[in-house]
Amino acid sequence: MQQYEIYAVKYAGPFTSSGAFIMWMKDWDQTVERNYYFWVIRNSSTTIIVDAGVSPEIAKQRGLNNYISPQEALKTIDIDAKSVKHVILTHIHWDHAGGIGLFPNATVYVQNQEYKFWMKDSIARSSAFSFFWDDVLPAELESIETSGRLKLIDGDRHINSGVECLLAPGHSVALQAVAVNTPQGTAVIGSDCGHFFANYKQEWPSSLIVDLPGWISSFQKLRAKVSSAELLFPGHDPLMSKNYPEIAEGITKLV
Ligand SMILES: [Zn+2]
Repeated sequence: MQQYEIYAVKYAGPFTSSGAFIMWMKDWDQTVERNYYFWVIRNSSTTIIVDAGVSPEIAKQRGLNNYISPQEALKTIDIDAKSVKHVILTHIHWDHAGGIGLFPNATVYVQNQEYKFWMKDSIARSSAFSFFWDDVLPAELESIETSGRLKLIDGDRHINSGVECLLAPGHSVALQAVAVNTPQGTAVIGSDCGHFFANYKQEWPSSLIVDLPGWISSFQKLRAKVSSAELLFPGHDPLMSKNYPEIAEGITKLV
């Protein structure tokens, strides 16, 4: 089985919010800072990008501070976004999928149920979901589908030796985490299953949950999958920048 390194690429932040944003129904009187990330899984023969960051247009519209375009960030570690062959979308929220147009030649892996919900279900356009959504997404995803680059996944599936997508609903209808074989054992990029390491440590969700029982089973599934607890990585925790070696500006090596 192939082994890989995992990098966290910070593309924006920090942003300050109430602690309750990160810890559901707790920490109302505290403030926390969060960053925005995507990830790189790499070895000498294969590069897989996990999530797409956002495009410069979306970053501008939303006033993201300290933004760097995913293309520019990847260039600093010698990855040409236009040549990337595989992008896994953990879920179709704007901050994870809004840069998918920057990878025009990649096969895009997403859970079937996640895709159907955002693209075909009218409930996804209700105002309560607008926090997660961006109006440019349907056209971009549709063009990926039409060009034959979309791979819809049902449940758990290996997409390469040592890289497995894991269905982990709760934060979204069908978020997928990514299990990666590394020299330290199995690591899991949990994405927003837990926004922070603290969500995993305390088995406590963020405030952004669409299915609480689903979230608890997903958390337990991911925790059972990793070789050790510290190999389960969150979606937005600034500790991914602070506690790991920086290999280029804003890019840290998690494993
Ligand atoms: Zn997110």
